[in-house]
Amino acid sequence: MCAACSRLGGQRKSLLMSRIASILLPMPLPEAFDYAEPDGMGLEVGDQVAAPLGPRLVHGVVTALREAAGGNRPLKPVEALLDAPRLPPNTLEFVQWAARYAVDWPGQPLAIALRGARAPKPRPVKVLELTGQAPQRLTPARSKVLQAAAVQALAPAELARAAGVSTGVVKALVDEGVLAVRVIEAQARFDDPDPSRPGAQLNASQAAAAGALKAMLAESGFNVALLDGVTGSGKTEVYLEAAAAALAADPAAQVLILLPEIALTQAVIARVTERFGAPPGEWHSDVPPPARRRVWDAVAGGRCRIVVGARSALFLPFPDLKLIVVDEEHDASFKQEEGFIYHARDLAVVRAKIEGAGVVLASATPSLETLRNAETGRYRWLRLSGRHGIAQLPQISLIDLRETPPEQGRWLSPPLVEAMGETFQRGEQTLLFLNRRGYAPLVLCKACGQRMTAPDTDSWLVEHRYSGRLVCHLTGFSMPKPRICPHCGAHDSLVSIGPGVERVEEEARQLFPDARVSVFSSDTIFDAREAKRMIEAMADGHIDILVATQAAAKGHNFPNLTLVGVVDADLGLRGGDLRAAERTYQLLAQATGRAGRRDRPGRALLQTYAPEHAVMQALVAQDRDAFVAAEMAEREMAGLPPFGRLAAVVVSGLDPAALETFVRAMAQAAPNTDGVAIYGPADAPLGLIRGRRRKRFLVRADRTVDLSAYMATWRARVKPPASVRVAIDIDPYSFL
Ligand SMILES: [Zn+2]
Repeated sequence: MCAACSRLGGQRKSLLMSRIASILLPMPLPEAFDYAEPDGMGLEVGDQVAAPLGPRLVHGVVTALREAAGGNRPLKPVEALLDAPRLPPNTLEFVQWAARYAVDWPGQPLAIALRGARAPKPRPVKVLELTGQAPQRLTPARSKVLQAAAVQALAPAELARAAGVSTGVVKALVDEGVLAVRVIEAQARFDDPDPSRPGAQLNASQAAAAGALKAMLAESGFNVALLDGVTGSGKTEVYLEAAAAALAADPAAQVLILLPEIALTQAVIARVTERFGAPPGEWHSDVPPPARRRVWDAVAGGRCRIVVGARSALFLPFPDLKLIVVDEEHDASFKQEEGFIYHARDLAVVRAKIEGAGVVLASATPSLETLRNAETGRYRWLRLSGRHGIAQLPQISLIDLRETPPEQGRWLSPPLVEAMGETFQRGEQTLLFLNRRGYAPLVLCKACGQRMTAPDTDSWLVEHRYSGRLVCHLTGFSMPKPRICPHCGAHDSLVSIGPGVERVEEEARQLFPDARVSVFSSDTIFDAREAKRMIEAMADGHIDILVATQAAAKGHNFPNLTLVGVVDADLGLRGGDLRAAERTYQLLAQATGRAGRRDRPGRALLQTYAPEHAVMQALVAQDRDAFVAAEMAEREMAGLPPFGRLAAVVVSGLDPAALETFVRAMAQAAPNTDGVAIYGPADAPLGLIRGRRRKRFLVRADRTVDLSAYMATWRARVKPPASVRVAIDIDPYSFL
């Protein structure tokens, strides 16, 4: 329960009823609950209220109001109308649509939508203002303070800075009574973006794409465009022109820019601020709750007109959303896999449809789903040619690890080490890319051969040297690395197998003791600010060799980076899921796309054991169309997305017998429908997580089938026992 609700406890309202309010609560409940509206409360749909649930008061949202018919059973009254912005009708509709689509309770997406509304308000700030009293003596420094204070009431330190004087001058004026402290609510408004400021200089290809996007927005209403251009072709400048057009056309219009990684937000926020002369609202998990509350309230009030954020920003209460940009639209991070399961790119299109807004999906390596929509004409397809300000793409070559393997216990092959040496000699930068966190992905005992696994989960423990611990990346379980094998009792017998970024960093330091080596992964970069510092250090040339996971592979501009080494190009191909080849292609294209900017040609070296694989060949040839065509043909033959639809069901339970009984009953209960095939139940590849056994179904359906409705019908036919959980994942990305 939020603070606002708890403060209201005990204040009983008049019980003279006239209307019934349906109130959706942000929790996993099947539907909105009915409450009586106390006389005179004057509720409207979208209002935030406090309502009793059992012994508690909970925060909810009014979804419907109707006249009470006589003879109804008495309902509990709404406790209070909260002093908080109303959820716009479109936001409510979107929340309910998202729940139907995901086959989940509507309270789940509502909880995401209210995440900022329930955060504490920012604390008030102290500012200084002129009292009208004249100073005892007037020095030049004091005059400057008085002038600055006359323009705007500022906090003491800010006032001193604005006047260009020391804080002592300001303090003396306060002591004299010339300035007085006033406490005000923290800044509730955002400066209005100015779309008339000059944008970046666009090349012909960018200008054409920007023109097409402006024309699309001028048509108004729902439209989707794919902005398709290789890394470095300048997609950001183009979509910022679309944003400018949307903001200029309507003084209330709002724009949302979605990004897959928190690490990317700072760079885009800087670009937006530069373009429009005002910082946008920032929305992701690292934003502290009071700042989130400020953004939430300002978005709902129409005072925040541009938001840059991670996937959950899609659930913000925009009253006038006119444009959604999904940058790096292919990125799998847009898929939320825990709790409420959704894909932010797909839901962005839905939200835009509800709002009558435009969508720009930007990528250098669009997803097959999006490409298919572009090919069939459902989306406009805007292709940017060439790299912005550079003619050459990096040269990509394969290192066949069967022919030139690294030395024993090392991970960088001689050709890669040689290239790194040349690059370092020239004072240029290297990015070593390995999409594997930690030091070693596998720890085993050389005495008994047992692998170290988590106690309650089927996953291998990953060694982290920085923390000296063995970590389960799935559940976060960790333990100190033991000196004694827990299986056979041998001493100092545990060895680390395979490389993670930390181990590659160690090797790079040994090979190039004079080079400045850094590592970038979610274990070493904890928040957006640290990510920004690291990216700036790389951009400014303070790092010679950067070892990074995928977090650094996308979206950044490193002008002095001329070599990208992909340590294990085969890694993604071993995933065994439907998008393995596509994802590998995308990641490698992004990672190699970092190399060479401006006048310096770049090169990329890929270490692989499978140089003949279609993905590797397409990369070397830089032939995306060939790769896409081959992959599309395979998917079409198998009826897989984008040619068919998939849903996954994960059923888990603590009691194996109860689980087994339930999944058999569930298989029996599946509706028999043309165009739907069900595979399973089967043991999930990760058969045990946090002590829960897991079984899976995979459902394949023709595109014409309403898969969400089918899954909802199926789930309604079974009632799992309390110990069993059923999770439905429409359009799954994980097959574990
Ligand atoms: Zn052992």
